[in-house]
Parts: sequence; structure tokens; C-alpha cells
Amino acid sequence: MPFENLNLNPLILKALEESGYTEPTPIQEQAIPELIAGHDLMASAQTGTGKTAAFMLPALNKLNDAPKTNSKGPRILVLTPTRELAQQVSAAATKYGKYMRNARVVTILGGMPYPVQNKLLSRHVDILVATPGRLIDHIERGRIDFSRLDMLILDEADRMLDMGFIDDVERIAQATPASRQTVLFSATLDGAIGKLGASMMREPKLIRIAAQTARHEHIEQRLHYVDDMHHKNRLLDHMLRDINLKQAIVFTATKRDADLLADDLLAKGYDAAALHGDMSQRERMRTIARLRQGGIRVLVATDVAARGIDVAGITHVINFDLPKFAEDYVHRIGRTGRAGASGVAISFVSGRDSLHVKRIERFTGQAIAAHVIEGLEPKFKPRPPAAKRNFHGKGEYRSPQRRSSGGGYARDRGR
Ligand code: ADP
Ligand code: MG
Repeated sequence: MPFENLNLNPLILKALEESGYTEPTPIQEQAIPELIAGHDLMASAQTGTGKTAAFMLPALNKLNDAPKTNSKGPRILVLTPTRELAQQVSAAATKYGKYMRNARVVTILGGMPYPVQNKLLSRHVDILVATPGRLIDHIERGRIDFSRLDMLILDEADRMLDMGFIDDVERIAQATPASRQTVLFSATLDGAIGKLGASMMREPKLIRIAAQTARHEHIEQRLHYVDDMHHKNRLLDHMLRDINLKQAIVFTATKRDADLLADDLLAKGYDAAALHGDMSQRERMRTIARLRQGGIRVLVATDVAARGIDVAGITHVINFDLPKFAEDYVHRIGRTGRAGASGVAISFVSGRDSLHVKRIERFTGQAIAAHVIEGLEPKFKPRPPAAKRNFHGKGEYRSPQRRSSGGGYARDRGR
């Protein structure tokens, strides 16, 4: 189905065509008509499926209608958990709205000077993209006029809850007109998210895009057993020498490890840099810009800092340390294989991680194939295949000794 069938303004269609988009993704195809019809919406779909445009295109479309009142406050408000994500959402709004006259985007983030933001907010705003904490400050100082707000959008709402923003989000919602349209995107729609949604919405439509079946088809997931730190470093070095690796994000468990590993890789001659939450906003922005321009080949990052990074050149994600939560695994590997490109996600796993790997496999519904590099074989040998080692009886278990030529053997469980 072409974008033309979605009743979007021709100026938006023109910008989409320039972006090289030919067809809406499934979440876009389903969400856009509901939002244009004015419904509240709760939606979930895996990372990299185009959720930003799913809410931003109808939001931009709304700007073609006359505003409710003649004030200059925002008509669209998007809340995001992290600064990086806010910047990406703003960039998307600017890109899709580039031919519209009344689509001024303002981004309000923590870590940036108040006087600059006050100035931005004193002018006419159409789309405001913000992280919750800093926005609350401005609301309390009376700097934001929500009288003409049409739409409130929560992007990555699950992550906002995880990060403790629930009270802030509720307070912000209360500061906006009750007549608004409310939209929530999240990895899951269960539990606390469902409650939050219910408390803020009127008869929301629900959209869940087959999260389990279509998951990461174009990302090849591999697992390498590691004996110790020395073995890990040698394997990493091997991976980084691969000429098919154009750009990589290497994930570590801590900020300190990210710094140490980035320094180590720099010393070995790689174009490496660290990205984590202890860096200033300016440093983080500069690093992401360098990554996007290709000046960084290996970004060593922590989970929160790397969330939402959308750089097409990233061919590999390497879990130097496994993430604590299975859900973060999905967010990490979603940094590669963007927009239909293929990607490789490699996880280093020690003997102690086996239960954790199982949790991740259960969460994604996919088994991760073990691989071995000649000359870098692990001494550690996972238990041989046995009935109880089978992945829910359907996945195949492949020991590292049976060397894989690559390619996902992992079968989807069709949940
Ligand atoms: P999500 O929020 O679901 O993780 P994004 O909105 O960040 O995903 O989109 C992922 C990538 O897909 C971005 O690079 C975006 O430009 C691209 N994209 C989005 N919609 C389309 C489309 N209809 N056609 C082609 N590429 C798209
Ligand atoms: Mg997103």
C-alpha cells in the first residue's frame, strides 16, 4: 500500500518521497488512520519498525487544521525518556515537516542552559519534544502555554516508567487540556503501562504488531563463549578486524568499563569512542554526530546512552557484557539492521551467563546460535545437547564444536 492512501497532506507526502520511503511500515499503516480519525492510541511494535513516523506523520497532519485558540504554545507535545531519543524525534519532525509552514519544532532537554530554552519557548512553537524532568521545570515557571495543545505523545513509555518518570509524566498530562488526543508507544502494553494509559486516555485503540514472530529477521544473532577477560579482548579484536564491520556499538555493563575499553581500543589503533551518561550533553551530542559522519567506527556504550541511536552505518552490535534485562538485549540489537538493512548482533557469554541467555531467548522467542572462531576456541564447553537443553523443544541446540557457517538456524516459535 502506498503512503498516498493514508490521507496525509501532500506536503508531508513530498517530504516522505524525498526521504526515500515508498510504503508505510505495518505500525504506520495501522496507527496513522486511527490517529487521523482522532482516537487515543496505545501501540507496541519492535524497535526499528518506524514508530516515530507512525505518530509524527498524523501529528504533522493535524497542524493543517486551524488551532483551537490563538496562543503560541505547542500543539503537539512528545515526551521521550532520553535526550538522544528526543533529538532523533525532533530531527524526524523537522524532516517530515520540512515543506509545511507551520511546523516549528522546539527541543527541551536536561543539561542545556535555561536562558537558551526560555528564548526558544518565548516564541511560537508547534511541536515540542522534551524529556520529562526539564519540561516540568519550565511548566512550574509558567513558561509553557498548553491552551492550544492538540496531542500528547509518549514515546518509549515503558522506558519512561523504568527510569522513574511516571509522576512527572502524569503531572505533565494534567497540565495539558483534557480535550487533547493521547498517544502512547511502548515495547509492552501490559501491567503498569496499561494502567498509565488507562488513566490518561479515553477509549484508546490498541495496536500490537506481531512482536514475537517477525522479530529481528534481518539481524543475525550469534553467541560466543568466553573463558575470561583476556579471551574476550582477543575475540573482540578479531571481530573488529572484520572488513564487513563498518561501524559497531560495543556494549559494556558500566560507564567505567566503557571508558576503559574505548581507551584500550584507541590505543590499539581503532577509531573508538565511549558514550555514557556521565558525559555532558554536549560531549554526547558531539560523539553521536561523529558516529553518524563515520568518524567513529567503534562506539563503546552503556544501555541508556545508546538507546534510540539510529545510525544506518551500524553493521554490528557486540555485547561485550550481556545486558541485565532481556528487554535491553532487544533494544541493543535494534541499533543495527536499521530500516531493513541487515545486521549482526554478537554476544560474549561466560559459563555463568547460561541462565541469563535462556531468559533472553525466552523473551525474544528465538534461540541464539553459538559460534566459534578458529584459533580462539573457548576452553569452557557448555553441556552437550540433551532433551532439557532444547529450547522449548523446538529450537535446535548447536554446540560450539559444530561450527556454524553463519545464518540463523534459530527457528521462531511462532508465538
Ligand atoms: P522505532 O521507533 O520503531 O524503533 P524508528 O522510527 O526510529 O523506529 O525508525 C527506524 C528507521 O526506519 C529510521 O531510520 C527511519 O528513518 C526508517 N523508516 C521509518 N519509516 C520508514 C518507511 N516507511 N520506509 C522506509 N524507512 C522507514
Ligand atoms: Mg522509537
